[in-house]
Amino acid sequence: MQIRFWGVRGSLPVGGGAYRHFGGDTACIEVQAGGHVLVLDLGSGARRLGQRLAGCPRPVTVLLSHGHYDHVCGLPFFAPLRRPNGPVRLASAISGGTRGFVQRLLAPPLFPAVPDLVDPAVRCLDLDPAGVFRPGDGITVTTTPTRHDGGAVAFRIEHGGRSLVYGGDHEAGDDAADARLVALMEGADVAILDATGGAPHAAGSGGLGHSCWTDAIGLARRAGVRRVALTHHHPDSTDAGLARLDAAVRALWPGAALARTGQLIETAPPRAARPREGACHANSTA
Ligand SMILES: [Zn+2]
Ligand SMILES: [Zn+2]
Repeated sequence: MQIRFWGVRGSLPVGGGAYRHFGGDTACIEVQAGGHVLVLDLGSGARRLGQRLAGCPRPVTVLLSHGHYDHVCGLPFFAPLRRPNGPVRLASAISGGTRGFVQRLLAPPLFPAVPDLVDPAVRCLDLDPAGVFRPGDGITVTTTPTRHDGGAVAFRIEHGGRSLVYGGDHEAGDDAADARLVALMEGADVAILDATGGAPHAAGSGGLGHSCWTDAIGLARRAGVRRVALTHHHPDSTDAGLARLDAAVRALWPGAALARTGQLIETAPPRAARPREGACHANSTA
């Protein structure tokens, strides 16, 4: 699996020189698995990913963790929904159904009445918040509810013996909800977790629907995850502050680091071919 970050910011997109390194776009992650493209959330980063996927004939499956603006504001600007070149599916467990949610999002007063923003060939699917979905190409997607205002789900994606968990938005601190997420992450190669934190990014200061970095790392370690990418960075956190946080995160556990826009994570080759345990590697691209 190849995992590329197109948006790592939470709550609100930000721009300017102070955000250049980690990036200012909100939640959007591309996962290449087999011949399939999976897209995790359609925050503002989805616009540039959509440009890159324009003309791509491979199946594209979008998985929305929930309907908050920072995770869907790129939906009207995601080219594969408007001009699909292959099968395109939009799947979520949003209450009221995925199609109804999209219709509400793309209508006044939230958005101008622009015709044909979503091609009729795009299939809208409703996921069970605690179920299993098989989009094809041998990919399995398992969902579980997280602790977040209005409801949200986390996804575990498995393909070719590799596994990725995207935690979406989650506030640690509730034993039952934390146990569900830990169970979903059990032994995963990579976990992408909410570490919005508090004021901003102070240790032990999760809340308002989000986790702090120490809680996120603690949950991942309980689950035996090999590698953690922390995301949903606070909009007030500049590159300088995030660089300091990244150093603290890596010092706490070398398996964890802050995600940044443009970063690529490749899961390791099948376990039998691995030279040593935990031999994942990441390439950083601008
Ligand atoms: Zn969010
Ligand atoms: Zn949210």
